[in-house]
Amino acid sequence: MLNLDFDNTYARELAGFYVAWKPAPAPAPRLLYLNAELAAELGLPTDALAAPETADVFAGNRVPTGAEPLAQAYAGHQFGGFSPQLGDGRALLLGEVIDRRGRRRDIAFKGSGRTPFSRGGDGKAAVGPMLREVIIGEAMHALGIPTTRALAVAATGEPVYREAPLPGAVLTRVAASHLRVGTFQFFVARGELDKLRQLAEYTIARHDPDLVGAPDRVFGLLRAVAGRQARLIAQWMNVGFIHGVMNTDNMTISGETIDFGPCAFMEATDPAAVFSSIDHGGRYAYGNQPHVARWNLAKLAEALLPLVADGDDKAAVDRAVAEATAVIDAFPAQYDRALRAGQRAKLGLGNATPADDDADAALADDWLALLQRERVDFTLAWRRLADAAAGDDAPLRALFTDAAAPAAWLARWRARCAADDAAADRGPGAADRASRMRAVNPFVIPRNQRVEEALDAASAHGDLGPFERLLAAVRRPFDETPELARYGEPAPAAVTARYQTFCGT
Ligand code: AMP
Ligand code: MG
Repeated sequence: MLNLDFDNTYARELAGFYVAWKPAPAPAPRLLYLNAELAAELGLPTDALAAPETADVFAGNRVPTGAEPLAQAYAGHQFGGFSPQLGDGRALLLGEVIDRRGRRRDIAFKGSGRTPFSRGGDGKAAVGPMLREVIIGEAMHALGIPTTRALAVAATGEPVYREAPLPGAVLTRVAASHLRVGTFQFFVARGELDKLRQLAEYTIARHDPDLVGAPDRVFGLLRAVAGRQARLIAQWMNVGFIHGVMNTDNMTISGETIDFGPCAFMEATDPAAVFSSIDHGGRYAYGNQPHVARWNLAKLAEALLPLVADGDDKAAVDRAVAEATAVIDAFPAQYDRALRAGQRAKLGLGNATPADDDADAALADDWLALLQRERVDFTLAWRRLADAAAGDDAPLRALFTDAAAPAAWLARWRARCAADDAAADRGPGAADRASRMRAVNPFVIPRNQRVEEALDAASAHGDLGPFERLLAAVRRPFDETPELARYGEPAPAAVTARYQTFCGT
């Protein structure tokens, strides 16, 4: 039996915030994926994982000792409209484990059957989308982006019915927590202020322990979430990641990326890029993500306000609103700083004085405008800029229809690089610059076409080979070797134009 040392604070301290529930039985469990590295991080002995009952555990048939499965309550704004009750409709928190580095991690199922929060849904998940969670989570992790990760995927041996019957699966997800903006919204919407306060105290103790007992801790939490989200979204933007469904129930308090449903990586550079089949207005388009993050934070601020000011004291409410507004208004600049720091590294610039800030920002913006104008592949353009740093412009020029298009910009960039080297007093730093750039500009991202190909082979033909090879490739995003070449290639424009992703599938 899998022995995890559970310590379930959510179950213990937050009675009334969830419904204790059991996973649905799976008729014929089969383990499709197990993350050995993550298992080791969680202190799971490898020999235990090899035990025959492992598939039963990860399919939900045997609840591991110490787990206290529960469905969490939460609300959320979905595409701007408020749903007062969402909750774990097809997920269950099994419990929490302290990992080898002392971090508290949630272990949760996704696709483990109906719960009291399922509404019209079947509570199930299909093999394809759960393997997608594995690939995207591992890619994000390898790219150095905070993310939830998959520990295991088990096929249930049971069909799930979408447009057609598909093989069912349960994913085991590891997260810093599953607290979301929508968790706070749930209790405000019900007017349960005692619970809201209890939730805030729990969250602060869990994610921002430095704030415990501080008089300003509620807005301290808001500021901390704003900081984490500013850094997270900046990292998304710098790798071309489009989350696809940034509803408030999919925005974590921890600052981890969560819920890889309709997400996609942008290929041709385009702020309006959107792949989700249900995002008709482009609310969650690539370029809109920082604005949506700010909007979601405003919803968190609204939810926290009743804890800071009593509604009957108008002056206190006004002060609290002003303070919350200041946090939300500071978000764009905070995001911009994180974005610019990332861009500067991607441009191979090491030394910046405040005087360089505006010029470097303009340099980055003009580069992106150039890529957008020519619809150049975002990932490859940055990668080929590293080749240009090493002295070879040809691969970069080859990405443009008009090979002369980047010439003027390249001259400007080179001048800035020279100034950067002079400031560092290290002379022409070409080789060094190229290798620094290659360490932050990935060659391999989970390209949409490769992801679909891998999921289709697994789901329709039971062939996990393409999935395993893609997974191995996305785990080495900064390598560029002949065997990785096919994972670095953009899809033909016609394929990208047709590409659609789906929610909650
Ligand atoms: P998501 O878009 O996956 O973040 O899910 C939004 C809400 O829909 C959450 O409350 C989910 O639990 C619920 N949900 C999504 N898919 C299903 C399903 N197949 N069965 C029941 N609930 C679901
Ligand atoms: Mg969700």
